Amino acid sequence: MKLSHRLDKLPPYLFVEINRKIAEKQAKGEDIISFAIGDPNMPTPQHIIDQLCQAAHDPANHRYPETAGLPELCQAIARWYQKRFEVTLDQNQEVLPLLGSKEGIGHISFCFIDPGDVALVPDPGYPVYSMSTLLAGGEPYFMPLTEKNDFLPDLESIPKKIAEKAKLLWLNYPNNPTGAVADIAFFQKAVRFAKKHRLAICHDAPYTEVTFDGYQPPSLMQIPEAREVGIEFHSLSKTYNMTGWRIGMAVGNARMIDALFRFKSNLDSGIPQAIQRAAIKALTGPQNCIAEHNTIYQRRRDKLVKTLNDIGLRAKLPKASFYIWARIPDGYTSVEFTAELLDKANVAVTPGVGYGNAGEGYVRLSLTLPDDRLDEGISRLLNWDRAKRK
Ligand SMILES: *Cc1c(COP(=O)(O)O)cnc(C)c1O
Repeated sequence: MKLSHRLDKLPPYLFVEINRKIAEKQAKGEDIISFAIGDPNMPTPQHIIDQLCQAAHDPANHRYPETAGLPELCQAIARWYQKRFEVTLDQNQEVLPLLGSKEGIGHISFCFIDPGDVALVPDPGYPVYSMSTLLAGGEPYFMPLTEKNDFLPDLESIPKKIAEKAKLLWLNYPNNPTGAVADIAFFQKAVRFAKKHRLAICHDAPYTEVTFDGYQPPSLMQIPEAREVGIEFHSLSKTYNMTGWRIGMAVGNARMIDALFRFKSNLDSGIPQAIQRAAIKALTGPQNCIAEHNTIYQRRRDKLVKTLNDIGLRAKLPKASFYIWARIPDGYTSVEFTAELLDKANVAVTPGVGYGNAGEGYVRLSLTLPDDRLDEGISRLLNWDRAKRK
């Protein structure tokens, strides 16, 4: 058997060792509190599930769906963008439903990147941007996101030769893993940069609805010229606790949407229609569930950030996303610190370096665990710190 060389390009998965340790401890009967996974612990709202069950009984939804998605779903997405961002989209040409946004993020690289091509990728960042670049034969050029720059890439510092060669610019705000946000002025700068260097922007925006303190993140599509150069990926996963159902969307530049559609139509046969019906319900139905979830995340955020600062880490209150990006004390690498918390406190976090070299010196904690587990995790962190000080 001869596997493709393409697969050799994927670096070893950094979390393998930590996951092995967690599994080993659990096998011994130890209870691990995990802040490591970004997956809402709360269920999908009832009215959405009811719609899904009803749609599952309808034989019209038992057959192959179209890759392009139900017209009613494309319309619901366009209307949601209108209502939420005052952005007008052509539902026929500027909207494409996806099997979760990860699927589209992975596949768009194959629509742009030929062997040797460059994609500009944030570091730290969601791993799929660089992995799909590598799988397509391209080279990621990493843009460091630093605290000094509020975790925004410094586009001006990208060497001219790289910028000219690059075909894609990846952005992600509200950001995973740093919890940082971007304003309209930054998006304007990014659109100008993309036009100047004739490259396409992919903005990954699954956290625009997971927000705190009344903050409302913008959409890249609010920049009038954005649809000349870019698309935005969005998802129902984080907004409506629907990670398990796999549904998201890409919106924006018609040529990019068409390229992604043509690529996908050779790989998948669309999104199960009952799930599309549930998504329509989510986007057009009552929206109070979003504020309810955010109130819960905000309470967890406040407690956890306070604890982290009390025990010698440095973390700010994020305005959006359900992640805390915490600076670890000097004298540890992020992997060493993660291992120590796991060994001594039975608490799992993710080492920042797992999201890229610029993530070294940080760990990420997710707020997506039940309140009682969060409280138990906090008391373990406090006990660990107290024992260390003795
Ligand atoms: C969760 C997440 C996604 C993927 O979401 P799905 O729509 O469930 O595939 C994409 N990007 C980032 C940054 C995420 O955190």
